[in-house]
Amino acid sequence: MNYISTRGQKDGLSASRVIIKGIADDGGLYVPEKIPVLTKHEFDALIGKSYGETAKFVLGKFLGDFSKAEIEQCVAGAYTAQSFEGGEAPIVELDGDTGVLELWHGPTCAFKDMALQLMPRLLVTSLAKNEVKGKAVVLVATSGDTGKAALEGFRDVGAVEIAVLFPDEGVSAVQKRQMTTQLGGNVAVAAVRGNFDDAQNTVKSIFADVNFNQKLAEKNMFLTSANSINWGRLVPQIIYYFYACAQVKARGLLEQNYSDGFVDICVPTGNFGNILACFYAKKMGAPIGKLICASNSNNVLTDFIKSGVYDRNRDFIKTSSPSMDILISSNLERLLFELSGHDGAYIAELMDSLAKDGRYIVSDEIKRQLSEMFTAGFCDDTGTQKEINRVWKERGYLLDTHTAVASDVLHACRERQNSGRYAVLVSTASPYKFASDVLSALGAELPESELGSVEALSAVTGQPIPKGLRGLAELPVVHGDVLDSCEARQWLSDKLKAPR
Ligand SMILES: *Cc1c(COP(=O)(O)O)cnc(C)c1O
Repeated sequence: MNYISTRGQKDGLSASRVIIKGIADDGGLYVPEKIPVLTKHEFDALIGKSYGETAKFVLGKFLGDFSKAEIEQCVAGAYTAQSFEGGEAPIVELDGDTGVLELWHGPTCAFKDMALQLMPRLLVTSLAKNEVKGKAVVLVATSGDTGKAALEGFRDVGAVEIAVLFPDEGVSAVQKRQMTTQLGGNVAVAAVRGNFDDAQNTVKSIFADVNFNQKLAEKNMFLTSANSINWGRLVPQIIYYFYACAQVKARGLLEQNYSDGFVDICVPTGNFGNILACFYAKKMGAPIGKLICASNSNNVLTDFIKSGVYDRNRDFIKTSSPSMDILISSNLERLLFELSGHDGAYIAELMDSLAKDGRYIVSDEIKRQLSEMFTAGFCDDTGTQKEINRVWKERGYLLDTHTAVASDVLHACRERQNSGRYAVLVSTASPYKFASDVLSALGAELPESELGSVEALSAVTGQPIPKGLRGLAELPVVHGDVLDSCEARQWLSDKLKAPR
């Protein structure tokens, strides 16, 4: 299996090389030259398999230059009963025709763990396979969930160091405490004065600093990123869609529910990574019907799927589902490449237009395919609060703000036109991660400190706090540095340990 760029360059690189490289030289994203298709027999064989077994099978289809033993080792290290206490991706029944796919049982209680527990292992294996010498320094700017998930994923993994910069003003109290209490011998964390853009620009300027990179090279180190455009972060997400479909099939819900043997899947969407993985699973032959793309008030994708016009020229809105506050969904480029029949020149044109004018319009043929495969909707903060309240009262199930957006969109879709199919609602975060907003949605009083909301939510609902968020207020802060942007280089140099 070789990989090519969405903008036309046909490198024909192996999986391990694209995981090391991240982004193609022409600015495009790497995709498999051909999407592998499963036989019905292969899919049926996944029913009843463990998450680890499902993972090995799916990864085997994409990581052509990894040996069976290498894949086994990566999977065994990532998906352990200790890291995923409540199971990797259980489906909890919400009502007769909806199940919630809970993807937040990992160490940081957000779905990014599903990819970031595995990706560091894929990267370390790739570096070794290609005999890349020296130490990789993973540098991340985060607005919240990614930073903590990356820290946990890379903590004490191989010859890698990880440094995370988060905006001093711009992450929740829970997220901040999760990061500043991070353990591990190869981790560094600091706050950058300012907002997310300041942190992001700091990181970008370090990546672009020739002098700094040269000094690193003299110490036998090099910078790399762990963001969601790396194929190594996308491929782990395909696994849970097969695992989900196998669970639904095993419970007899595909046939029983007066449906046509397919399941609809509703995904709370930001950078389009999660729902793109669902698209790949469908193309590979998983019995998936409609892909329902749910956005918050930053509803660029809703408009795009409905009209074929992608237009980021609009106000950025800060919402209670911050991980979906995105106006440029990078991974959409991969979908458009597939729908255009691998027309790299055409995709390069669209992306040029996005960079220049902040918008593009797709062809009628792509528009047709979009409306055939996708349904889209959005939900604002008021709707999010109402939905959390409704589902708790009616079903006794607690949604986080991101999942509530999706739940509301799914509900609205069904009122417009019910497909009759069973639907899987993809849940991307534990409600305890966004405890203050969930508490106020339930009409409960907010405690004085934001961190106190976690305990308060448990007291109000009688539900246990997940392991990763228990006792957070009492954990010692071990990363207290607060930097001005211009101090970040020096800070990073001081933190890095030269390879042995
Ligand atoms: C990252 C994230 C999302 C958005 O996922 P994409 O793959 O970027 O679409 C949704 N919900 C939560 C809680 C997240 O952390």
